[in-house]
Amino acid sequence: MREGDIHGGTVSGETIRVVNPATGGLVGEVSAGGKDAVAAAVETAEAAQAGWAKRDPRERGKILGAGAQAIRAHLDALSALLTAEQGKPLHEARNEIQGCANVLEYYHSVSGSIRGECMPLSSYGLAYVLKEPVGVCGAIIPWNMPVLIYAWKVCPALVAGNSVVVKPASSTPLTTIRIAEIMEAAGLPHGVLQVVTGYGDAAGAALAATPSLGHLSFTGDTKTGGGISQAAGRNSVPVTLELGGSDAMIVCRDADLHAAAAGAVAGRFYNCGQTCTAVKRVIVDASVKEQFTRILCEKAAGITVGDGSRPGVGMGPMNNAQARDGICGMMDTCLSAGEGTLLCGGGIPDGAHYEKGLFYAPTVVADLPDDSLLLNSEVFGPVLPVISSDSLDDAIRIANSTRYGLGASVWTNDIKTAMISSSQIDAGVVWVNQHLKLPPDVPFGGMKASGTGRENGSGAFEPYLRSKTVLVKS
Ligand code: NAD
Repeated sequence: MREGDIHGGTVSGETIRVVNPATGGLVGEVSAGGKDAVAAAVETAEAAQAGWAKRDPRERGKILGAGAQAIRAHLDALSALLTAEQGKPLHEARNEIQGCANVLEYYHSVSGSIRGECMPLSSYGLAYVLKEPVGVCGAIIPWNMPVLIYAWKVCPALVAGNSVVVKPASSTPLTTIRIAEIMEAAGLPHGVLQVVTGYGDAAGAALAATPSLGHLSFTGDTKTGGGISQAAGRNSVPVTLELGGSDAMIVCRDADLHAAAAGAVAGRFYNCGQTCTAVKRVIVDASVKEQFTRILCEKAAGITVGDGSRPGVGMGPMNNAQARDGICGMMDTCLSAGEGTLLCGGGIPDGAHYEKGLFYAPTVVADLPDDSLLLNSEVFGPVLPVISSDSLDDAIRIANSTRYGLGASVWTNDIKTAMISSSQIDAGVVWVNQHLKLPPDVPFGGMKASGTGRENGSGAFEPYLRSKTVLVKS
């Protein structure tokens, strides 16, 4: 595996083996960078930033536009690499790579919107407010959507005139490195974008503790985010935190149950359940619970599980052993305590070809007690708990009975029900009759323990710019 110049992390002799979670085979190796690698990348990024900041935002946007085209030209190879290192089926990998290119194009299209203000204030003279880049930005990325989340962080920072040091997750660094190389080949000046590979507690912790950062954006687990926030706070580095979620999907009695069941299956089992805004709890009106659950289980049981590079596979393996052990542990705890009714799945699928990979069957569980682990933790894998509700108020109460507040959806044909529930659910995004899709045009981020700050949407540049007020007296 070739690591380009762009990769700032080749310092120590230790390497990280990137393994295909479907087969256990080696996909590539990267260096296990730490403090020195981060310091070197930050220094290079600082040196490159001054020249980048002098360019017009539209020119910076245009380079991202060229990067998007180049990414699309490499779609097949990038998708295959993403499937190999992350595990998701090839069609999902293609979606993610195309989503990444869409984000680059979106920030190209809005690059002209960065501007200051000018106001004549009679007794003070002329006042104007400049919007300046904040400098070198840090971006720490998880393994579940490594390429899309990379684009969400890197694009607004770059268009705003900053340079960026990216720390991908140790199990999924390869596609990120390749995309950064492609962006550089498409015109991004050398040094403006640095990728440092390494483990979270070494490279990640070093980046979070870097005092000279202008901004740090982190996506990952809520507990990790707490530590990162403290480390950055010691140096007064502002942070955006996109953290875990326990999204509720409310199915009302008037909903189209087939569409809702399809939405639940796509919303839960996409990416093997490893999506921050996945459907993590279905709350269905008691009057339609039986019918809904039957359709849901038929669809879930019909998913073909296997190596994501094979045609026809609907769900790949989990990305890493720690994640799968977490799901196995949660299910064992609940089933051995006699909690709930297992409706489908519930373990590692049978068959020799599942032995080498990190597979887990699409699983549906109902009738769990309120204090069940499966309802009170973030379930980051292909397990879907179904809860019944007596009324809309009851459903909203259950949806809000979590420390998380990332996303939620309401499935109904009644506009009043949709409006009432959207306003009463504590979540950063509420979908009606859909779940999961997030265009870069809208702000995204969580409430409560799901994070602070927003990415994308009209305010996306704000964290990456600082205001300077100039008052001119003639
Ligand atoms: P994680 O917190 O374990 O790791 C995320 C990143 O942080 C990785 O790059 C990791 O190497 C790094 N890291 C780990 N420990 C660190 C430390 N001490 N200091 C600095 N960096 C450190 O999370 P994960 O397991 O990769 O991702 C899954 C989690 O991410 C889930 O909770 C999921 O809900 C959440 N997530 C949230 C969003 C969102 O937008 N809200 C999106 C995707 C994933």
